[in-house]
Amino acid sequence: MQSVRSPLLNPYTQITHAFSTKEDGFSLKPFSQNNLAYHVNDNPKHVFQNHQHFALYLQYDLKKLVHMNQVHGNSISIIDKSTDLNHIPKCDALITQEKNIPLMVMVADCIPILLYDPIKEIIAVVHAGRAGVFNKILIKTINKMTSNFKTDAKDLLVVLGPSIKECCYDVDMQIKVEAIKHNYGYSINEKKDSYYLDLVSIIKEQLKELHIENKNIEISNYCTSCNNKLFFSYRADKNITGRFCGLLMLR
Ligand SMILES: [Zn+2]
Repeated sequence: MQSVRSPLLNPYTQITHAFSTKEDGFSLKPFSQNNLAYHVNDNPKHVFQNHQHFALYLQYDLKKLVHMNQVHGNSISIIDKSTDLNHIPKCDALITQEKNIPLMVMVADCIPILLYDPIKEIIAVVHAGRAGVFNKILIKTINKMTSNFKTDAKDLLVVLGPSIKECCYDVDMQIKVEAIKHNYGYSINEKKDSYYLDLVSIIKEQLKELHIENKNIEISNYCTSCNNKLFFSYRADKNITGRFCGLLMLR
């Protein structure tokens, strides 16, 4: 089983984490091979086998897995002992302090973000696409960790997994205007009459606002579109594609 690990999180034995890849799964084209999303019209039997395989590989209880019905919104769910784990929350971020409950974010170009507070022992995962980044879903999640669990942002480890990077993320004029409206004009780079959006540059500024130091931030070098053999990419796969995941669990 192929997965991508974070050098920043690797030393912490009290958590399990990984980003899955496309490789070594049961799904057939155009979802081959390791698609983890049920909502993309893949054969659900194959998706379930992929989930079983990943759970066995990372040694978590699949029955306790929490993933999201991601809607490019601002809603954040806190998972606690009273949460019905069979209900999939409609949100774009999950937070928990419970042990052995794996949190999963699924993506194919959007940024999968893993957050770990090693002092208070709190974890979160965030789905950050263009809308989420513009609407500060990451800042809101961190603020919620602070208000509900007393996380001090300066303790937080922030890992941005593989996502589409500026090299491949050309956008139209309307999105340029929207970026400027949100004061993120600096994230638009104009090359040969096209506009390229650098979402990571916005995340970096947002983390700076929260005084999170660079040593606590890790940004994957992988562009999902450039590395489409290893990761699902909505753009590179022309809209019909699977999803890979970022997973985080407290042990
Ligand atoms: Zn690229």
